Amino acid sequence: MKDAVKPEKIRCDACPVMCYIADGKSGACDRYANHDGDLVRLDPLTIIQGTDQKLVPFMKDGTSDDWDGDIVKGDRPFVTAVGAGTTYPDYKPAPFIVSQEVEGVDMVTIVTEGIFSYCVANVKIDTDRHIGHERDVVRVDGEPIGYVMTSEYGSKMLSLGGVEHLTGGTKKEGRVTCDALLRLCNREAVEVSVGEDDHVTTVVIQAGQAPVINGVPEKLMRVGCGSATIGMFAKQWLTHADEVVVVDDHITGVLSEHEAGKQLDVPPTGLKMIGRRSTPGRYFQVAQPGTGWGGTDIDDPLKILGPFNPKIAWEGLRLLMVSTTGEQFAYYELDADLVPQLAEMPEELIASTELIAENCEPSICSVLFMGGAGGSLRAGVTENPVRLTRSVKDSLTHVSCGGADSYVWPGGGITVMVDVLDMPTGSFGYVPTPALVAPIEFSLRVSDYRTLGGHVDEIRPVDATQSEDLRRVQQNTQGHDPMSRANYRWSKDDATP
Ligand code: SF4
Repeated sequence: MKDAVKPEKIRCDACPVMCYIADGKSGACDRYANHDGDLVRLDPLTIIQGTDQKLVPFMKDGTSDDWDGDIVKGDRPFVTAVGAGTTYPDYKPAPFIVSQEVEGVDMVTIVTEGIFSYCVANVKIDTDRHIGHERDVVRVDGEPIGYVMTSEYGSKMLSLGGVEHLTGGTKKEGRVTCDALLRLCNREAVEVSVGEDDHVTTVVIQAGQAPVINGVPEKLMRVGCGSATIGMFAKQWLTHADEVVVVDDHITGVLSEHEAGKQLDVPPTGLKMIGRRSTPGRYFQVAQPGTGWGGTDIDDPLKILGPFNPKIAWEGLRLLMVSTTGEQFAYYELDADLVPQLAEMPEELIASTELIAENCEPSICSVLFMGGAGGSLRAGVTENPVRLTRSVKDSLTHVSCGGADSYVWPGGGITVMVDVLDMPTGSFGYVPTPALVAPIEFSLRVSDYRTLGGHVDEIRPVDATQSEDLRRVQQNTQGHDPMSRANYRWSKDDATP
């Protein structure tokens, strides 16, 4: 029941900012508002419909023809933390602590929108193209928000965000970092610049979409390094080319020298590579990194060749040069002076470059949110937070983020990592401290919750959430079920439940 007299402004206590919010207005983060004197969470609580459903895109408007509105009669619901709200200070119980029986076991899920000062977006960009050197600074609006990490196989990696940028720099750096993280985690496009003045690359990153590098959308992720490509396709080239060079910024392959070529009796050709020879047929540093062939800075592949050895090479020698995605290729024949001359490429070799391209996967950006559920967030689950950590490590408590499966890092604390594409749309928010707001749910047996000192008096049945403003979404494509017995150690114990 509402008070007869209400203050003109009410104070939101959901985060350390402690906004005073006038009637009809929202707080600094746009998550909470004053509606006629009541503090309300503006986004609806998100419930995942059933776990037996095969997946479909998340609904945009909270309506579905498939949904009959009865979460009890319908498939088992899972209450996510998206739209659940935050408690602050954190010793208060989490906003929703809901129970339901799952296959004869009384389960409870503790649901809260955590405030993460310690969080990053780990970004994987599938491309060979050079976007920056390891440790290069990544900027948005001129502010440093992260750096280039070690490259992975066919992908460049960025670490964006983190407490140093959120809290350790200027106010603007923290604000820009938080905004970039928020947009990336909510699957929006963010343009970053990588590197310093003499080698700046712009990259547009969006989860699930192709990266746009210096204004050019990337198409393919390489099939492998130059050496691997030689190994995979060597047989395709036999009898159609005397020599093949697969240009790669990391490991350029040369067919006649490579073990694959030797085993197929490809004779020496007298080709001389520029760069550092690693092992037979594998060369490092044939050029500078760039956005040209195979992630090098070259557009003319002949630049990485020295003169052919006249004692070995011969007039008419057929040379194919190709990049690791098969997108760039050129065919040459040696003239009488043993100089490569462009020639018409045989159909069989065109087919082999098409086969390389066919074996490449589409280039996309992946964004994984990683954050640490701190000591205070855990207090919303139990009065004895370290017991929650132990329970997670013991596989008695399962951690999900917006219902999506999360990887919990080994070692101390509860550091989780989750693919933002597995989460409902709009899962993330922010507070201007600055910090990111991310959903996190802890699911476990009621009996285990009692043992770890949980707020059992706050447990309410899941159907009590029916009175909330709900947004119902269907299960994502991964089909992860946070309540599945397989998530829990006790499922392997015949004596339970
Ligand atoms: S920033 Fe948002 S959560 Fe924090 S006090 Fe203001 S309205 Fe509440």
